[in-house]
Amino acid sequence: MESRENPVDPFDLVVFGGTGDLAQRKILPAMFKRFCAGQMPGESRLIGAARRELSSESYRVLVGEALAAHLPARPDGDTLAAFLARIDYVQIDGRGDTGWQDLAALLCPDRIRAFYFSVGPSLFGDLAQRIRAEGLADDQSRIVVEKPFGHDLDTAQRLNADLDRQFMECQIYRIDHYLGKETVQNLMAVRFGNMLFEPLWNSQYIDHIQITVAETVGVAGRGDYYQNAGAMRDMMQNHMMQLLCLIAMEPPAKFDPDAVRDEKLKVIRALDPVEPHHIIRGQYTAAEGVPSFREDVDNPRSKTESFIALRCHLSNWRWAGTPFYLRTGKRLKTRSSQITVVFKDAPHSIFGRESGRHNNELTIQLQPDEGITLDVTIKEPGAGGMKLIDVPLDMSFAEALGPEADGPDAYERLIMDVIRGNQTLFMRNDEVEAAWAWTDPIIKGWELRGDVPKPYDSFTNGPDDSSQLLRRDGREWRGIKR
Ligand code: NAD
Repeated sequence: MESRENPVDPFDLVVFGGTGDLAQRKILPAMFKRFCAGQMPGESRLIGAARRELSSESYRVLVGEALAAHLPARPDGDTLAAFLARIDYVQIDGRGDTGWQDLAALLCPDRIRAFYFSVGPSLFGDLAQRIRAEGLADDQSRIVVEKPFGHDLDTAQRLNADLDRQFMECQIYRIDHYLGKETVQNLMAVRFGNMLFEPLWNSQYIDHIQITVAETVGVAGRGDYYQNAGAMRDMMQNHMMQLLCLIAMEPPAKFDPDAVRDEKLKVIRALDPVEPHHIIRGQYTAAEGVPSFREDVDNPRSKTESFIALRCHLSNWRWAGTPFYLRTGKRLKTRSSQITVVFKDAPHSIFGRESGRHNNELTIQLQPDEGITLDVTIKEPGAGGMKLIDVPLDMSFAEALGPEADGPDAYERLIMDVIRGNQTLFMRNDEVEAAWAWTDPIIKGWELRGDVPKPYDSFTNGPDDSSQLLRRDGREWRGIKR
């Protein structure tokens, strides 16, 4: 069978923070899967770099354990040994002087160099500066930076400035793993590859759009970070904003990194400030043997939100008057990320009032079970006259594509895009800053007012006020369909 893999050139991938949680859970398993897919060509290498004192041999043991813990199936011995043979480790303190020569000795001049900063953002500037000062990077090298990218506009601008001093924008890959999801890219394929949707994709035909990212997990283990971030900074400013951009943007002239990112930027800039009464913040309480948010962050008076729902508007021709409802939270009833596009009712029902109100809905399910569903109205079967019901046209990728649907996960795809030099699915500096420029006044607003998040029971849909946000507009949050 012809390979469906897009070839990549040989590379050296240096993972700063190579012993950390993200590296172990996501980056190393992703690289192993790409290795198995033949995408570590030639003498490509992965070099872990972190503060811990380890030999390369001990690091390989750590990698083997991480793979055993985080891959769905235990890797076979020969493949694992071949992968581990491609791995090295250097002990480096990003702010110290040792280890840099060892790293230089491991890098090969003929290979693409990518430096993955899987460390806290306070190290980004130091690492970028040091990599340059040590002569480890040229103009073809790339750096990958993790979220959080800033705490507000000011810190994001300073981070951008620190990176811009050392690297050109075309070398900087700000990762948002939501953009690496198959369905998120399918959103663009569905919108711009089909004639069906785009003519209707505007305020004339769409009643409103909802985006929900619901998690069942709490913040235990990440309490310190989360207490200072909250749902607005942790999810809304980046992941939810990116989903909003893809659903609302104009068609780019071509599928090219800057063309796509230009259109996303215009969406963020078109966002109106959000009215305070269109924002609902919540905080989970203890339930079913799990601690409350305040216990998880070890702060009995915490005013940080673990849930946020808001209604926002875009001031542009396409979307004038169409509300976008966004909600995200932890310790909710189910783990589910979905976007629902709710079309308007038909302008006139020829079937009379008794047939009820019916409209089309397009649901894009990002997790779990990625897929797209279109609800269409049909006649209810039977001899009871012309009664209408809505049924889903289901495009479950797993069913439609079989094993082909089981493609690379987000980190695999995004890391390979870094190696290929394709920035389409990465956030540009101006996008990140525009998102913070919209987010900052919202946060400042509730800080000035001293707003306290509403408590909500764990494993529910969040605070009741979030339902009210839609109900007072005559709408409802869509349930989880699968
Ligand atoms: P972690 O605390 O588990 O690991 C941090 C890593 O950085 C360790 O390998 C440590 O040795 C290294 N490190 C710390 N200080 C260093 C220094 N001065 N010099 C060199 N190395 C140093 O953190 P993590 O959970 O792996 O997160 C790493 C980054 O990724 C953070 O910015 C985090 O916000 C982000 N992130 C993590 C996740 C996740 O699921 N863990 C998800 C998204 C983003």
